[in-house]
Order: sequence, then structure tokens, then C-alpha cells
Amino acid sequence: MATAVKTKKYVFSFGPNGTDGDASLRDLLGGKGANLAEMTRIGLPVPAGFTIPTTVCTYYYDHDRTYPPELRGLVDAAMTKVEQEMGTTFGDPKNPLLVSCRSGARESMPGMMDTVLNIGLNDTTVRALAEASHNERFAYDSFRRFVQMYGDVVLDMKPKDKEDVDPFEALLDAKKKVAGVQYDSELQAGHLKELVTEFKAAIKKQTGEDFPEDPMDQLWGAISAVFESWMNDRAIVYRRDYGIPSEWGTATSVQAMVFGNLGDDCATGVALTRDVALGTPGMNGDYLINAQGEDVVAGIRRPQRIEESLQSAMPEAYAQLLDIGQKLELHYKDVQDLEFTIQRGKVWMLQTRNAKRTGFAAVRIAVDLVNEGLISKTEALTARRIPADDLNQLLRPIYDPAAKRRAQKEGRLLAQGINAGPGAASGQICLHAADAEEAWRNDPHVELILVRRETSPEDLRGMRVAKGILTAFGGASSHAALVSRQMGKSCVVGCSAMDIDYHAGTVTFDDKVLHAGDFISIDGFTGEVFLEQIEERPSEVIRVLIQKDLKPEQSEIYPRYAQLMSWVDEVRRLGVRTNADEPEQASEAIAFGAEGIGLCRTEHMFFHHIDEFREMILADSLEGREQALAKLLPFQREDFAGLFRAMQGRPVTIRLLDPPLHEFLPQAAQEQQQLAKRLGTSVESIARRVEELEELNPMLGHRGCRVGIVYPEITRMQARAIIEAACQVQQEGVDVRPEIMVPLVGFANEFIDQERIIRQTAAEVFKEQGGAIDFQVGTMIEVPRATVCADQIAAHAEFFSFGTNDLTQTTLGISRDDYAPFITHFRENDIIPNDPFQTIDRDGVGELMRTGVQRGRKSRADLKIGICGEHGGDPQSVMFCHQLGLNYVSCSPYRVPIARLAAAQAVIAEEKTPS
Ligand code: PEP
Ligand code: MG
Repeated sequence: MATAVKTKKYVFSFGPNGTDGDASLRDLLGGKGANLAEMTRIGLPVPAGFTIPTTVCTYYYDHDRTYPPELRGLVDAAMTKVEQEMGTTFGDPKNPLLVSCRSGARESMPGMMDTVLNIGLNDTTVRALAEASHNERFAYDSFRRFVQMYGDVVLDMKPKDKEDVDPFEALLDAKKKVAGVQYDSELQAGHLKELVTEFKAAIKKQTGEDFPEDPMDQLWGAISAVFESWMNDRAIVYRRDYGIPSEWGTATSVQAMVFGNLGDDCATGVALTRDVALGTPGMNGDYLINAQGEDVVAGIRRPQRIEESLQSAMPEAYAQLLDIGQKLELHYKDVQDLEFTIQRGKVWMLQTRNAKRTGFAAVRIAVDLVNEGLISKTEALTARRIPADDLNQLLRPIYDPAAKRRAQKEGRLLAQGINAGPGAASGQICLHAADAEEAWRNDPHVELILVRRETSPEDLRGMRVAKGILTAFGGASSHAALVSRQMGKSCVVGCSAMDIDYHAGTVTFDDKVLHAGDFISIDGFTGEVFLEQIEERPSEVIRVLIQKDLKPEQSEIYPRYAQLMSWVDEVRRLGVRTNADEPEQASEAIAFGAEGIGLCRTEHMFFHHIDEFREMILADSLEGREQALAKLLPFQREDFAGLFRAMQGRPVTIRLLDPPLHEFLPQAAQEQQQLAKRLGTSVESIARRVEELEELNPMLGHRGCRVGIVYPEITRMQARAIIEAACQVQQEGVDVRPEIMVPLVGFANEFIDQERIIRQTAAEVFKEQGGAIDFQVGTMIEVPRATVCADQIAAHAEFFSFGTNDLTQTTLGISRDDYAPFITHFRENDIIPNDPFQTIDRDGVGELMRTGVQRGRKSRADLKIGICGEHGGDPQSVMFCHQLGLNYVSCSPYRVPIARLAAAQAVIAEEKTPS
């Protein structure tokens, strides 16, 4: 929190007469405050206001929730300035100024923190507002919204769980019933006036306090509520998910209100300068005539689409909006997400920010902006534009077209909503976020569609565990839509044909009544909702690259993906290999851009020849083992030859047998009997051997190179199979580059022992065959001792590959197989920032890796070093590997594109912040 004391400027003003902030002050003013200042600076219509910077938020929490003493005076002065600019006065009984108070952190956290609108209204000013606007209904509507919002946000009256009733919503519903109307906008001034009184009584009843009439008290209540909301549960969860440090704090922007609810020449809306689901060009968004901002986002009324009807409804305002959108895209060189209000035909800008987008849209927009000349290729590749993990979405399933057509023919199409987050998702209906969480805790593989009238930030945890989201209300920029897109979930919103009864636990589509637990399928690309499950199919990129049943030119996204990946490869320096044990996996990985195999786990190959393998393990003499190994040799040779053929001259790192042997033996009596029969031996001898091999700590037992050292015949067989296969494939005219890797080495002598066997065996094979091939012998670095003694090991090993799964396990002393029950607790309580088995623990494991790299290269300057633990496909870890100077990362085939992009992003980040 050191920055809190560095700047003493506690208020930054903006308005038609100028501003003392700009976009570069994002850390201080938050995204919202900085962009309000910037829009003012470039001459766009922004109502006057001021921003209290993030430093005040950190001060607030550092000083027992109090403010810097001078802040009060500064806010008073800033309010006077706003009054002068707007020509109205806060609390004035004749011509009152009303303001809003909004949160805004450095990184946008949509819907996570609080906002209060219409501050300044009380029993006196409401009458003045009615007179000034010649619209009593508008004035009382604003007032009742304010009292409600104040109660919810400042006085903390929001429902706390699904059983809680929102007193304001209940009163509003009752009033609509009495008035015989469906929508809030149909209530008359008299009804609204009554509601204000009823709302205030509800506040008094629930909190014991009167609603504050003094506008300045209201303002300070709102400012504190915004700062308090930085520490609410949903903001904390969001920060944890998106790696936002809590030290950043939020800024608070206070701004003069403009009104979208003065009549039919007024509107409010949110616009996107391009489509953020698919990335197609053209302004689009939601608006509501005669309404206030939160109506659009809250999803209470179904909004109209800007691209469909705003031009005809309000041609002049539409032209202004289009012009503003273009100016902003050019200025920010990115797609903008705008909040605007049209007051009596004039557009006012309340916010602009770089729009959140799906992975699809991120790729399309970035590539299109380069092709439009707005940004450079390097800029297109930045993590800010395309978070590497978002490429996952391009590799996401779609519905099998035939299965979908069948569902349509069978009349299973239930309804059509708005397509808010692409992707196919079939799952069981779940009506409450809390139930979704519970179901997920009981079964992490459960597939749920969270079905809600609309979602609110309280639903965040439930949304995270759901496979898809379906809502009855709201538009493409409602909370459900925004959050799902960001999470990369399939999402359909505004499905108004759907009627949800939370108490009965039912969802009704016309005459079809579904219950929680029933299966439905949503298509986030089209907005369709279907009864029951529909078979899913891989993405277009997968179809072009892997299934090859779609031509590149038939796909919208594939050509852009390909263009982007070609830029990626121009920039990155880190190699990307794959972990693969079968030729098919290897071919898929090549299609994704893999440059070699970084890890072939030979034990996986034995699953196809399990009986012979078990015979080898069960043998209690060298002779018996060698007999079984002789049976295994041809299988292994064929498997390796398949890999060499698939890899076409690319390096193939083959690891010798690693896991504890007993893992392969049958534990159940029945299975032991069957095996005894097949091998022609007694069940007693099998049971005895199983017992002999059992270990209390198998991960720290007789595994890795320890097996090959005690049973050198196993290493000999594997080395022979590799070298023979390599010779065979080379004779077929295909280049081969075998790299034989010894697992779990801690002592140089372990490596020396195994290397000797490998090289002797290779020499024998070459002699037998009268030829030779180039090959390397190297080691995994996966126990701490190996990193510390890397210089001794590198004196013999030609390459290293960090096995960060085991290195994490052995460094942290946390079992990789048993950590699930406590890791969530650890993360939620900020004990550790990430799951260390997914993202490298830089301070611990990372430092050991650094030692390994330095010491290894000290004794062998050209030592090739890679990583083949799961971290090799995690963007943050890939960036770290780049920084360490590794030669390559190796990951599962579907993560290869992600690792490639992350590797390019590492170079770009390095160039931006030279060390
Ligand atoms: C590792 O430990 O990181 C590794 C790649 O080996 P395995 O996961 O097979 O133990
Ligand atoms: Mg390992």
C-alpha cells in the first residue's frame, strides 16, 4: 500500500470546462474515472463530476475505515465546481443537482461493486425536480429508485440468501398488482409517491434508522458504500479469480445525473462498437426508452436492440452515438463498451471501456484491427487483447448438426433466447446458484445449466460451476451475458417464453413443465433452447485441423486463428512440444503446432499389453523377467516406430519406465484369479507378489530410475526398442530424432548407471544392424536434489526436462494425488494464490528451477532444457519458463496453441518492460 501515501491529490474533477485527469491515470482513477476524464479531454459530451482516487480507498482500509482529514473540504469544493458547470445546486429546493456515485477499479470488475444513483433527492428536492422537469411521474420514479438503492446498497438491506425477500421488490410487486399493471413504467406518479413512503417505512422497520434527508449525508453514505463494496464477498471472489490484488482499491466517481427517463425522447443503454460474442463489425447493444441505466443491466425489462431499431426510433441520437463510437474506437484502438443516456434527444456518455469479449471475438477483433491498420501484429498478440487461455473457446464443442436437426424435427426446440455466450452445453436444470455449488461439491463432474429469471453478482459462485447459463430476462449486456462471456460459458439470455417458479422448482415452456434435474441443451451460438441432451461436436478449428471435415475457407474463425498463430510463431522464442504417447495424439499435436514430443510416458503404452507387462513384474527371477521382456520388445518397438513416423523428423523424447510397478497389478481377488489363469500360474503366487510390491509411500518408493537400476534388463529392453524402432523408421526414409529420458534422477550416479546401459544397448543394435543414428540421453529434473546438483548431472546428461508435477510434489511435500480436499480452502483463505499443480509456485519450485538451469548450464553451456509437467500448458507458467531461458515447454495437444500464444506474449511483455 506504499502508493497510498505517495499522492496527496484526493479529488480529480472533469466536466465541460476541462479535466485534471486522463486515461493514463487508470491506477489512480480506476478505469471508469480515467475514461470519463479522457472522454472529456477529447471533447465528448460527459456530465460534470469528480473522481476520488484509489489511494483514498487504500487509506480508508489502512486507517480503520476513515478518510484523510482534508477529503471533506476537497469534496465540498469539487461539488461546487460540478454545480457551476451544470448550473444547478445540490439540495437546492428549486433547481436541484442530482449525482450518481460509482465504483471503478483499475481492472473492470463488472457488477462486483456498488453504484448509487439519484443522490440528492429528498421530500423537498423531489418536488422541485417534478416542477423543473414538468414531469411528476419521473421525479417520484427517480426518488423511489433512489430510496430503494440506498436501502439495498448503503443500508445493506439486500436479500442475503434465496429465502430472503427483498422488501422493496415485494412492495413494488404489490403496488403493480393493486394498480393492475405489468411493468414498473406503467405505475403512475401517485403510486410511486406511495411507494416512496412505504420504502422509507421499510427502511425504518428493518434498520431502525430514518432515511437521510440531507443530500450531503446521502453523498457520504454512498461514497462509503462504494469503498465498502471493494471488500464484499463477490468482489473478493472475482479478484481471486482474475488475479487482481486487493491492494489496488477502487476509485469512486461522483457525477451529475442526466436522465433517460424524462419521457419518450429519452433513453438509456449500453452499446458495443463490435459484436463481442463473435467479433463481427457493427455497433450493437441494448437500450430502453424512458428508463434509467440500471434497468438495462439488471435485466428487469427486455431491452430493444440498438442495431435493429434505434435508428428509426431516434435518428439523431443514433447518428450521435455512431459518431461517438467511431471516435472512441479510433482513440482507444479497441472495441468499446459504452454506457450512455439520451436526455431529450442528446447523447451523454457515462462510461467507456475496452469491451470484454469471448475468445472467438478476441481473435477475430484482434486480427481484424490489424487488417484495418489500427493496431500492430505485436499489439494484437498481447495478453490484454487475447488472454492465452481464451483460445480454449475456439476449441470448444458445438452441437452435432445432425443431432441438432433431429432435435428440431422431434419438436424438442423449446424456445429461442438471445445468444450471449457461444458454445454448446447440455446439462441438468439447476435453479439456484447455491444448489449448483452444492451439487458441484458432491460431484465435480456434474453438468448443470443454471436457469434463472436473471442473474445477479450473488450468483457468481454458482455460475462458475455451471456448464451453461440460461435466463428469462435481460439482453446481450445483462449481468448473465457479461459474466458468462468472461467465464467462457455457453449462455442464452432473454428467453422470455420461459416461466420459472423457484418455489415449485419448475421451468415452464408453453405446456411443457420441466423440473430441476431435467436435462436441457442450450446453444450459445444461436440462442436456442432444447429439451434433453444433444450430442456435442468439436469446434470449427478442431474440425478443420483434426477432423478435417471442414475446409478452412468454410469457416469464419479458422482463417483468423491461422493468421494469428502465424504471427505468434514469428514472435515467440520458446519452443512448444507436446506430451503424447500415441501416434494419433502426436498427429493432433502437430496440427496444433507442436514441434516435437517433450514427453512420451512409456508406461502408458503398456496398457495395451498389460498381461505381458504383468508377467514381467510378477517374475521373481531374472530369467522370468527376461522372457516377459522379450515378449514386450516387439510391441514397444512398434509403438515407438509409430511415434517416429507421426513426428516426421521432429524430436521425440521417450521416458523410461517411471511409476511404481505394483500400480499395474490387479488388487481384487477375482482379477488376480483371472490373471493367474491367463498366465498359467497360481493365484497365491500372484497375491504374494502383489503384497511384496506394495508400498506405504509409492510416490517416494521404488519408482523412476530406481526401477531400471535394480532391474537393468527393463532399461535394456526399452533402449533396444527405441533404437531398433529409430533404425527401422530411418530405413523407411523418415528422419528420426530420439531423445531418451531417465526419470526421477537425484544423484548423478543414477543417471550414469542408466546412461551406460542405454549407450551399450545402442552400440549393440548399431553393430547388429550395421548402421547408426543420432540420439541423445538426458534426464528429468523432478526432485529438489536434482536441481541443486544440476551441475553434476549435466556433466553427463545432454538435456534436462523439468517434471514439475513431481518437483512440486517433492518440494512442497504435498501429495499430487491427495491435495484436492484442502486446496480450495487454501485458495479461498489466501494461503496460496494459485493451485501449485496448475501454475508454477515461482517462489519455491520456480527458484529451484532457476537453480537447476543456472547450475546445469554452468557445466554444459548448450544444455537443452524443457518442461513436461502439467505447467507446460499454463500461460503464467509458460511465461515464467520463457523468463528462465528454457528451450521449450511441452503440454497436452489441446493446450499447444495456448502455450504458443503465451510464449509470444512472454516476449512482448519482456519488450514492454525491459529488465
Ligand atoms: C512430472 O513429474 O512432472 C512428469 C511429467 O512426470 P509424471 O507426471 O509422469 O510423474
Ligand atoms: Mg514425474
